[in-house]
Amino acid sequence: MNKPYSPRAGLSKSMELMLGNAAIARGAYEAGIKVAAAYPGTPSTEVSENLVRYKDELYCEWSPNEKVALEVAIGASQSGVRALCVMKHVGLNVAADPLFTAAYSGVNGGLVLVVADDPGIYSSQNEQDTRLIARAAMVPVLEPSDSEEARIFTRRAFELSEEYDTPVILRSTTRLSHSQSLVNTEARTDITDKAYVRNIEKYVMIPRHAIGRHQFVEERMRRLAEDANELELNRVIESDAKTRVKTYAAEGPQGASSGFEELRVGVICSGIPYQYVREALPAARVLKLGMVHPLPRRLIEDFAAQVDRLYVFEELEPFIEEQVKAWGIPCIGKEIFPRRGEYSIKLIKEQILGEAYAFDTPEVLPARPPILCPGCPHRSVFSVLRKLKLSAAGDIGCYTLGALAPMSVIDTCICMGSAISTLHGMEKAKGRDYIKNWVAVMGDSTFLHTGINSLMNMVYNDATGTVVILDNATTGMTGHQNHPGTGLNLLGETAPMINIATLCRSLGMEYVHEIDAFDTDLLTQTLKTETQREALSVIVAKSPCVLLKAFVPAGKCMVCKEKCKKCGLCISLACPALYKDEAGFAVIEERMCNGCGLCKSQCRFDAIT
Ligand code: SF4
Ligand code: SF4
Repeated sequence: MNKPYSPRAGLSKSMELMLGNAAIARGAYEAGIKVAAAYPGTPSTEVSENLVRYKDELYCEWSPNEKVALEVAIGASQSGVRALCVMKHVGLNVAADPLFTAAYSGVNGGLVLVVADDPGIYSSQNEQDTRLIARAAMVPVLEPSDSEEARIFTRRAFELSEEYDTPVILRSTTRLSHSQSLVNTEARTDITDKAYVRNIEKYVMIPRHAIGRHQFVEERMRRLAEDANELELNRVIESDAKTRVKTYAAEGPQGASSGFEELRVGVICSGIPYQYVREALPAARVLKLGMVHPLPRRLIEDFAAQVDRLYVFEELEPFIEEQVKAWGIPCIGKEIFPRRGEYSIKLIKEQILGEAYAFDTPEVLPARPPILCPGCPHRSVFSVLRKLKLSAAGDIGCYTLGALAPMSVIDTCICMGSAISTLHGMEKAKGRDYIKNWVAVMGDSTFLHTGINSLMNMVYNDATGTVVILDNATTGMTGHQNHPGTGLNLLGETAPMINIATLCRSLGMEYVHEIDAFDTDLLTQTLKTETQREALSVIVAKSPCVLLKAFVPAGKCMVCKEKCKKCGLCISLACPALYKDEAGFAVIEERMCNGCGLCKSQCRFDAIT
């Protein structure tokens, strides 16, 4: 299992400054993968976008969701090639079903999942810790600390996958995925395809086979845990120096500091927090774990025996800490470090060293609340929903901003594809009249991700209700990735285009409408009719995202001051291009206006041209 490990040694002329996600893609390429599948999601998206650079030597795709993506990768692995699957942390929930059983089946060609967590919740709906799912699924987890390690660990993950017959998770976080550091690229390994040999005890998980494979998995994890003590990715940075650290009140670390003492300090850490530890505690002995599941008990016991005080410094859940404490090793972790948010040097300075630590405070920038772009078609649909006083069960995407004032039309949002099922649940709970004041709202990519299943359920279970699909011809919030409805694939090549309205009709639905998202009169009339109808209906509100490269504004709008009555109706659309001047007249900032004409259609005094 052990190999020489030296991420800094050998940095040569071929080194490049790389984003963590680009380095993961590079590592996968170098590892000789033949297939990669993903669903976009910040902070993981750029892994697939960088794999496109190697398209002549591997196949990569956007799949409609993470479950499908993982199944594609599993199939490729079973057929005998190395395969990669990429997603953000919440995507692993969607892919959990195949993952838990793939953990039993194991692999043929190496199988690696890249899962990017989001401590601090910069662009997600929760802050879940992938390590907990990995422990439940009984698969190993590697966690790099910079871009070079991201490349090396990705390569290594494929070797471990094949050596131990297991899927391996490479866990990243926003800070790693979106930071740049030097990477020393190497040549692609020429991996010969493995032969596929029929083996139903391994690949067909009927109960009789699964019982045997569960036993195999337990033995595999036991073996991995033992070998982890010698794994080169788990490293000790030696030191016998002492550090002046806070003492704590007798009742425990949560209490007030009662002074300082000079101690040999040890810290167990992994991933990005390792960088903070090295900078803030240069004299500390550090156990840097490259594999965070399973944990190396002997290595940790030996490490703990060499220090006077042991800290576990890990973002999010006390995953390492709980195991260390369960082994009877005293350590300090979540007593002084939070379970949420990103960690920092400041946190160590304050909580361990008892030092005040002030960042160079940048100029205070004006607050910029999240807002839909000028000319965004979602604003048009929301303005109609607001006018009709309809509430919306919402979903994941830019359009979740419809929950905020002044639109305030979205009332609920759980996860990808949830809006339609939520509406369905409301109807079954409160009856058909209740949801006449409601609609479900979701984007095109989200509908094809998992929304379609929910719509099928509504058809099947005789539901009523109105579903509005905001079709802006892209996966907007993650940065314009293609999906099965855009007519283009991950490589930007022409692909078969799923027509959403046709797909809905194919489920047997009678009332399916395709409407220009800016045709507010038709949208108003259709929504009035459909929400009152004792039937299920879909309205596909179509208009491309204004940030798409292909989007060409249809000109600019202007306010005629002589006609403006200062009523503020246009301002209430919250278009960033519109504001009131000091005298209360509406003004359109020409450089920002995308000429959607929504404000023009709202003005009752013909003041906007
Ligand atoms: S809606 Fe028309 S009249 Fe009212 S503020 Fe805007 S431009 Fe002026
Ligand atoms: S036309 Fe009006 S609503 Fe549309 S982008 Fe321009 S200012 Fe905003």
